[in-house]
Amino acid sequence: MTSTRPAKLTVIGSGLMGTALARAFAAAGHEVAVWNRTHAKAKAVGRGTVAFEKLGDAVAGRELVVVSLSNYAACAELFSSQGVSAALAGKTLVQLTSGSPADARSGLEWASAHGVDYLDAAILAYPAFVATEYATVFYAGSKAVFERHEGTLHAIAKNAVYVDEKIGSAATLDCAILEAYYGGTLAVLHAAAMCKAEGLNPKLFFAQKNSFLGLISVTADAAQGMVERNDFTGDQCSLNTHVAALEHIVRLSSDARISTRFPRELLENYRRALGAGLGEQELPAVFRTLEQD
Ligand code: NAP
Repeated sequence: MTSTRPAKLTVIGSGLMGTALARAFAAAGHEVAVWNRTHAKAKAVGRGTVAFEKLGDAVAGRELVVVSLSNYAACAELFSSQGVSAALAGKTLVQLTSGSPADARSGLEWASAHGVDYLDAAILAYPAFVATEYATVFYAGSKAVFERHEGTLHAIAKNAVYVDEKIGSAATLDCAILEAYYGGTLAVLHAAAMCKAEGLNPKLFFAQKNSFLGLISVTADAAQGMVERNDFTGDQCSLNTHVAALEHIVRLSSDARISTRFPRELLENYRRALGAGLGEQELPAVFRTLEQD
């Protein structure tokens, strides 16, 4: 059952993200304790939060503990420090540190061994967007535990998405979206560099943003259907034709003396699909070669 009553909670980690999370909980009316390895940063969180020097004091009497540290190695180091597991026993820990599905599984193993309820979470937002409609948080783990704290967790992201009981599912979805984000961003930057190197003002490329984002969106929809049906045949544009277009991009980059690494990597991936006999199929057919690497 969703709770919207003011909760008593702790945010461990007062880095850029931990600070934004703690302030968002406090702004929503919750009673927020903060703890950070470097105490001065915990004190700087302010805005109604209370900074504690000892982690045990920060979590005492609090039902919910939210963690945001650099990585899981930092969490493992902290959780194995003297007295920490005993201080967390009986509480719900929401792990908002980014990691891989394997990290999430080891987190659950640790939590189960120490009597801690555990949700693995992944936040898709810059600190400035925490608590807004532009922030999404994915949650994985026990649905009952998620529902117990859903109302409180709503303070950090309007879009709180429970993904699955499988503890690695939030991290998997996060990694998938981040790959599309980082890969797409590198493609956009390389495209702008090609324009600049050819003496074309990159603003003319950026002005076409809706065209290329629209193409990606349509392709993602088509790819979803093809992946589901495991049928990549079609009558729009063969992989052979797409590979010829990629060769032009490599040629332009090489002629203009900018990095060819990214387009060559793309070309290599799509050529591998031709080598697998998929040249007459549609672009998403490359998916078949990715499953077999
Ligand atoms: P950050 O500003 O660098 O903060 C890192 C935090 O981890 C600090 O509180 C630091 O404490 C603590 N820490 C590091 N090693 C530690 C250890 N061994 N023991 C105890 N505490 C330790 O990083 P951030 O941007 O807040 O990111 C935190 C998490 O949020 C990361 O997993 C990141 O991937 C995720 N995230 C961030 C963003 C973003 O836009 N910033 C977006 C989505 C997800 P000290 O102050 O003592 O060094």
